[in-house]
Amino acid sequence: MLPVIALVGRPNVGKSTLFNRLTKTRDALVADFPGLTRDRKYGQATVDSMAFIVVDTGGISGDEEGIDAAMAEQSLLAIDEADVVFFLVDARAGMTPADQGIAEYLRRSEKKVYVVANKVDGIDGDSESADFYALGLGQVHQIAAAHGRGVSQLLSESLGEL
Ligand code: GDP
Ligand code: MG
Repeated sequence: MLPVIALVGRPNVGKSTLFNRLTKTRDALVADFPGLTRDRKYGQATVDSMAFIVVDTGGISGDEEGIDAAMAEQSLLAIDEADVVFFLVDARAGMTPADQGIAEYLRRSEKKVYVVANKVDGIDGDSESADFYALGLGQVHQIAAAHGRGVSQLLSESLGEL
């Protein structure tokens, strides 16, 4: 069984852009993997000889009362199925209440979570990502999903720890 990476985060942070880069498709693949629920977008990917399954999710709005209400059920299921969670945030937009709500949920889960600050192209990534250490989920990994920067490094670090 290949390792499963779930992409979670509020809308518009770049989850689908990363999914499409990893799976090298424009439209996210819908495939049928045994043992996995079928109503989310799964893609099979091989990057730098690392083979894995990646799951795109629709995003979590985080603007309701509690994170349990706010988090779309499919995102919860995707997290549940995953070996590794990439929690995407937007380095250009900075921290939002939705990010904090999602982080609270993820801190309680048993999953291995990587905070991924996306869209660091053309900005000072170090200073724009610094705020996200306050999410309390450890190191903040910088990427630019649209251009591929930082993606190989993130994969080898996260999959290498499994
Ligand atoms: P999702 O809602 O989390 O799936 O986000 P999308 O993948 O649909 O991306 C939302 C917007 O962010 C789109 O306009 C993307 O082109 C843009 N975007 C995604 N990744 C990057 C990036 O690395 N750099 C920049 N500058 N924009 C990005
Ligand atoms: Mg999307």
